[in-house]
Amino acid sequence: MSLYKGHLAGGSFAFVIYLVVLIVFFAYKPSFEVLTWFGLCILGSIWPDVDTNSMGQKLFYGFFIVLDSVFLLTGRYKEAAVLGFFALLPVVAKHRGWTHSLSAAFLVPSPLLVLPLIKPGIHLGGLEYYIPVVVGYLSHLILDRQFKLY
Ligand SMILES: [Zn+2]
Repeated sequence: MSLYKGHLAGGSFAFVIYLVVLIVFFAYKPSFEVLTWFGLCILGSIWPDVDTNSMGQKLFYGFFIVLDSVFLLTGRYKEAAVLGFFALLPVVAKHRGWTHSLSAAFLVPSPLLVLPLIKPGIHLGGLEYYIPVVVGYLSHLILDRQFKLY
C-alpha cells in the first residue's frame, strides 16, 4: 500500500499554492468552483499510483467498474471497450513507469481538454478542470522524487 496520505497532503499543499497564484497574479475571486478544482487536484495527486496496489487504484478502478457496467447495461459496447482498453494500460506497466512521467502528467488529464471540444453540450471539462489535475499530478511526481528536486 502506497503512502497515499502523503500524496493527499502534497496535493492539498500544491492546490493552495495554485489558488494563491490565481488570486495574487490573476485577481481570481474564489467561489464554490474551488471545491471542484480541489477535488480534481486531489484525484490528480493519487492517480499515478494506479499502477500498484494503492488507494488510488482501488478508487479509480472502482469507478471504472461502475462506469463500464453502466456502458454494458445500456448497450454502449464501444464505450465499454474503449474504457476497458485504457483502464488496462496502467496495470500492465511497472510501478513508477509511464504513470510517473512528466508527459503522463499532461496527457492523462487531456480528455478534460478534448471532451468540451467534441461534446460541447456536456459542459464538463476545460482548462479550469485540466490545470488542477495537472497540479495534483505534478505534486505526486515531486513527492515521489521523479524530478530529483531534493
Ligand atoms: Zn507514485
